[in-house]
Amino acid sequence: MRSKRNKFWSHDNRFRLMLTLGLAVLLPAAALIYVNFEHLESIKRDKKVEALIHRDFQYVLAVSEKRLNQKAYTMTEEVRGLFPSPDNVTESDKVKKLDLVLSKNPWLAHVFLFDREKGFLFRSQPEQMSDTYFREEHKLMAETYSGWFGMEGKMLVDGMHKKSRPINFYTGPAKRASGEAYMTTAFFVLPQLSKDRVVLGGISFDPNYLKQTFFPEMLDELITQKLTEEKGERLASSCCLDMYILAMMVYPADDEGGHEDKPLVASAGWSKGKPEVSRKLDDVFRGLALGIKFQGTSVDAIGRRWVLQSFLILGVLSLLMIGGLVLTYRSVSKEMALAHLKSDFVSNVSHELRTPLALIRLYAETLELGRITTQEKKEEYYRIIRKESERLTALINNILDFSRIEAGRKEYDFRETDIAELVRNTLDAYRYQIEQQGFAFEQSIDPSIPAVRVDREAIARALVNLVNNALKYSADEKFLGVKLYRANDLLKLEVVDRGIGITRREQSKIFEKFYRTGDPLVHNTKGSGLGLSLVRHITHAHGGEVEVESTPGKGSKFILSLPLAPATQ
Ligand code: ADP
Repeated sequence: MRSKRNKFWSHDNRFRLMLTLGLAVLLPAAALIYVNFEHLESIKRDKKVEALIHRDFQYVLAVSEKRLNQKAYTMTEEVRGLFPSPDNVTESDKVKKLDLVLSKNPWLAHVFLFDREKGFLFRSQPEQMSDTYFREEHKLMAETYSGWFGMEGKMLVDGMHKKSRPINFYTGPAKRASGEAYMTTAFFVLPQLSKDRVVLGGISFDPNYLKQTFFPEMLDELITQKLTEEKGERLASSCCLDMYILAMMVYPADDEGGHEDKPLVASAGWSKGKPEVSRKLDDVFRGLALGIKFQGTSVDAIGRRWVLQSFLILGVLSLLMIGGLVLTYRSVSKEMALAHLKSDFVSNVSHELRTPLALIRLYAETLELGRITTQEKKEEYYRIIRKESERLTALINNILDFSRIEAGRKEYDFRETDIAELVRNTLDAYRYQIEQQGFAFEQSIDPSIPAVRVDREAIARALVNLVNNALKYSADEKFLGVKLYRANDLLKLEVVDRGIGITRREQSKIFEKFYRTGDPLVHNTKGSGLGLSLVRHITHAHGGEVEVESTPGKGSKFILSLPLAPATQ
């Protein structure tokens, strides 16, 4: 009845444990994994990482354009300051001044000064005049600009006065012996002139300078300068712009698109291929476009790698979580099993205390009443009373020892001991009981064993526990063998029976506290499940080991091995 209720209890508890684990841990964990997985899937499907990087690229390009323009404006403004004032200077002095500007700034192709009242001066780099393309350009520009300014000069000047920086830029292709190039020309009004004067100055950036110096230097600067640092939190994709090296290039772009595959200037590491993102330039470099990508990798590849990495991390985390759950489940199950064993233990022990007490009382009362007349009977009663109280003492000693061990307070008193004598004396005290129960008893003790340092009481208790078990768990064939011998530097104490035996699976468990096997005989035999756990503790304290060899139905052999050298503890 009791055991049924216990089983029911344990089932109920197990169910509750499963429910708690399921509802409170497994379900949220599974949901978390699922949501994360879905999230990653959507990032992968919608190419979100790629989109973020593209957004960053757009930003980098916008900043880059600003820098390029800034630089061109600054250079122009510096030269503008060197321009001759249109008044109080002879025409030939103006020409001289313009030529000086050219010679001081070799990056200029042309400089010019238009004054509606005094005419148009157009000067070009003298060394380049030997190039036919350049000569033609000089002629064409001088003619075109002179006519254009003549007609629209007033309008241009008025327009420029309205701007914060009175400079306009015009970009266009230019021909050179070295090939196709781009030239940008700046027009400006001169400083400190009244607004109604139609006077325009201008400079053309030399196409070769732009191609060979200006753009390469600027692109390198833009790439190496950590644009991302400056931007800080405005970065969309926090990862990738710092991790990979950028490459940029400038290419001609017209209204239909551009020639992305024919860069005008490319930064180091561009190699080949199209830009991931490009931006058409306006203002200073209209007609050109700026392209960007990563060196040696593509945004697609980065996106794929990121998603793969995230999936892997999620996978590992999920495995850890599952592992944790399994461990938790196992340790909780173990605790529950132990709790179950404990409750069994309490009922077993109470039972075991009650029986000898009842017997002692019964026999004592019978003796007290004086009804027993024969001396023989009396002696038998006395013996039973002594035996039962001995059993009580043994049980209580076991429990006390156990509680000391559990509390970590168990102390051993090691003394030089003749172990053969100790074993013989202990067995002698039991011989009568053994034989009375119908056991064939065989004992073999090697008398030549040297003295060892042991706790006598503890060793005797271990032996008594083993002998008691052999007596308790034997059914048909009643045999008990005890053997003490020496094997190399080990001392061996064997207790053998031909009893019910122990299955292999349970052999490792019987040394655990409270554990009792499922055999029906065990169930009907009194016991606390403490004996073997004490035996193991005692042997370990002596620096030894305890083992069991057993076949169900055939019998068991328990072997204590103790070191012959003095124990240090
Ligand atoms: P107890 O004997 O009080 O139950 P023990 O710790 O001494 O506790 O033994 C634990 C269990 O190991 C026993 O309940 C029994 O199932 C098994 N056992 C111990 N000794 C033997 C033996 N000699 N033969 C068969 N089973 C044994």
